[in-house]
Order: sequence, then structure tokens, then C-alpha cells
Amino acid sequence: METARVLDIFKEITRIPRESGHEGPITDWLCKWAQEHSLAFKRDSTGNVLIIRDAAPGKESVPTIVLQAHQDMVCEKVAGFKFDFSKDPIPYVIKDGWMIAENTTLGADDGIGIAACLALLEDSAPTGRLECLFTISEETGMDGAEALEPGFFDGKTLINLDSEDEGQLFIGCAGGLNTNIKFSVRRTAPISGFKTLQCTISGGIGGHSGDDINKGRANTVQLMARFLYSQLGEGFRLVSIDGGGKPNAIARECQAVVSVADPAAFKKAFSAFASDVKDEFHTTDPSLSFECAAVKPALEPLGRKAGERIVTSLFASPHGVYAMSQDIADLVQTSTNLASVRTSKGQVEIVTSQRSAAQSERRAMAAKVRANFEGAGAKVRHMYEYPGWNPNVHSKILKYTVDAYRRLFNTEPEVKAIHAGLECGLFLQKFPGLDMISFGPTLRGVHAPGEKLELASMDKFVALLDEVVRKFE
Ligand SMILES: [Zn+2]
Repeated sequence: METARVLDIFKEITRIPRESGHEGPITDWLCKWAQEHSLAFKRDSTGNVLIIRDAAPGKESVPTIVLQAHQDMVCEKVAGFKFDFSKDPIPYVIKDGWMIAENTTLGADDGIGIAACLALLEDSAPTGRLECLFTISEETGMDGAEALEPGFFDGKTLINLDSEDEGQLFIGCAGGLNTNIKFSVRRTAPISGFKTLQCTISGGIGGHSGDDINKGRANTVQLMARFLYSQLGEGFRLVSIDGGGKPNAIARECQAVVSVADPAAFKKAFSAFASDVKDEFHTTDPSLSFECAAVKPALEPLGRKAGERIVTSLFASPHGVYAMSQDIADLVQTSTNLASVRTSKGQVEIVTSQRSAAQSERRAMAAKVRANFEGAGAKVRHMYEYPGWNPNVHSKILKYTVDAYRRLFNTEPEVKAIHAGLECGLFLQKFPGLDMISFGPTLRGVHAPGEKLELASMDKFVALLDEVVRKFE
């Protein structure tokens, strides 16, 4: 298999619309491609496609390899750039060793994976049986992987071609779930003599609750709870607390409205707290900003006990890394994200999310969060659980791939796992015992205009894939 051929096929793919949820044209194209090459294929009702190449003579006893890529791409363009992802070919240039889409996403994530599969299927080198699986809507919730029927493919070994760093082999990912908390609250009449203040903490870097959870960044909801906890007492009432955004983001801002007996003392304490926290986060979050000012009350204060239960349980809530992997250096094994809090008249809602490659640890983490908030009188629900892929450092396909990498490049690949979700977790749930690995060429800026593919890494990626598939037995 030649890099030039993989790139030619990829260039063809850049002309086919394939936005997540609208994969029809690429799905049809893949089926037609299989027909034209006289290869058996099937397509399920969601649009997942499997193309099959039988073993070459003499290779019948080689175990089947499943090669997998996703059909869809993230469609983003520069504001004002006239472009229609539903029909226009992706414009790209070749510059300084990179293939770049300057004003749109390139779709090398994961078009390059599709192209590599097709190039292998049409290659004349004898291999065992190959099953090429093309899933839909990976980017928007892994709907294709989620909908896969058990038995859709036969292979017990799968190579996922959706990784973005040449030289890195991925052997695991985290599963996750959300744990949502609801406090039902009653409000009391305003207390005479108390003044209403609004405090804001903003300017946090935030980031992804999987990839960035170990970077020591400020969680502004947690910080606000920490400050409010220091102010609990007869002279304090909570009115509202609102902060954070998506369940998978670290909270970048938080705002609390309070009713207090001594506003001057409260403000003084807040500014002392601000200077402590700025010190603590001077490296990871140098732009944290703190404000506290009088406001007109929009809501009546919560009862003292209710406010204390909410502040105390938010303060006590775990957040961040809980355990590191015992097998892979620097890999977060288990974590939780105190993602957001929202106050309405009769309710305070808190959203948290937990991740771990190990289901038991993920559920224990979620139970710990539940225990904390249930103890404070909240209703707690776990939801949206998805499975992980616990790394197996003794995997057979890993051994073949590492050996091939050493032979070809005379150097060691990095063996890694990620603390975020991959389709592989879902495959493992449907196909227990599946032995998997994920690798790919180097991509930068994926999911945003300017996405680019490093051409030098393509040669190594293609050589590695070719070597592994030809030598596997
Ligand atoms: Zn992808």
C-alpha cells in the first residue's frame, strides 16, 4: 500500500459531503465502491457500512482484522467564508509539508482513516480476512457505534484509525456518566437590615473535563462554594448560585447572590479570598477575576438551613483527579467534574460527570458524589452512562504493532490511553473480548477551520498499518 494512493482516495473523499447526521452521500459512495471492487459489503439501518475482503490463498487461518474509521466529519468554517458543506468540495492546499484546509475543517478526522482502509482493500498484498467498518455520527454522540448490532462483524481484533498523533498507540479510553443533583428549596421573606450582594468569579481557563482534568485548573463553582462556606452563619443567607456550562467542561465562571448582615465585612473577606486564590492559581489560571457589588434582589433568600446544606455539599463535593492508572504513566484513571450549578425560584440543580476506564471505579466515583449530595437532602440521578476501554498492556494486537513499529522505524512508539471517550468503548460493550488498538497520522487543529494533516507522518502511518496487517497471524 502506497501513501500516494491513500492520499488520492482521501482527495476523492474531500469531494463527498459527510457532515455528522447527513452521511447519506458518503454511505452510498462506500457501498458503490465495494460493488465496483467486487467486495462483499453490508449496510445497517443507521448507515454503518462493513466491507469485507476474504483471506488470500494460504492466509485462511490468519484471524480476521477489523479496520475501523468513522464516516462523518465536523463541519466548521471561518465566519463569513462562503461555503456549503452539503455540496461543496473541501478546499485544501499543500504547504510546508502539510495538507491544510485554511477556511474550513479538512475532514482528515476521519477521512484519512477511510482512505487507508480502502487503499488496503484494493492492495494486492496477500492478507488474512479484512473487515472494514465505517461508522456514522461519531462526532455527535457515536450514534453509529452505539447502534451496532452484535454480530455485525466477525473479527476479534480491531484497529481504530481515528487517532491524531503519529508515534502514539492508544490502548484505552475512559467511560463516563453524569450525576445530576436537585435541591428543592423554599424562600423566606427578606431579613430586615440585610443587604444583597452579587459576587462573581470569572476568567478561568476551564477546558475539557477529560483531557484537561489533570491540569490543575481552577473550578470556579468549587471556588465560590469554598468562599461561601467560610461565610456561613447567622448573618448569611444564600439567594442563588449559578456557574459552569456543559457537563464535559470545567466551570470557567460562577456567580452567587447573597443576603448578608455585614456587607462591608463580607466584601473584605471576598477580596482577601480573591488574593489568596489568585496566588494559588497564578500559573494555571492567571486571568481569574473577582467582583463583589451590591445589587437589587431579584429573588428572596433561601432559608438558612437550605442555603447551608447547598453551600456545604458543594464545598464537600469531590472534583478533579481521583486515581491515576497503575499501568500507564501520567494517565488519569478516574475523575469527577463538578460541572455546573443553576438556581431557579424553587430549585437548585447541580450537574457533575464522572470518568474512568474501569466501570467499577466510575460507578464508585458516581456513588461518592451521590452520597455527598443525598446526605444534604438532594435528589440524585445517574444518567447517560457510556462504557470505557480498560487498557490491556498484554494485548496481542499491541504486541504486533509495537514490534512492527520497532522494525520499521528503529524506535519505540509511545503506548497511551486517553481519559475521554472513543468508539472503542462501545465496540467492547457489544463485542466482549475484542482486542483493539488505535493509531493514525498526525493531525492538528481538528474540529476547527485550519485543520491540517502532516504528510511526513502519513508515510509512517501507512507503512505501519501495512506492516501490521500483512504480518498479523
Ligand atoms: Zn474522529
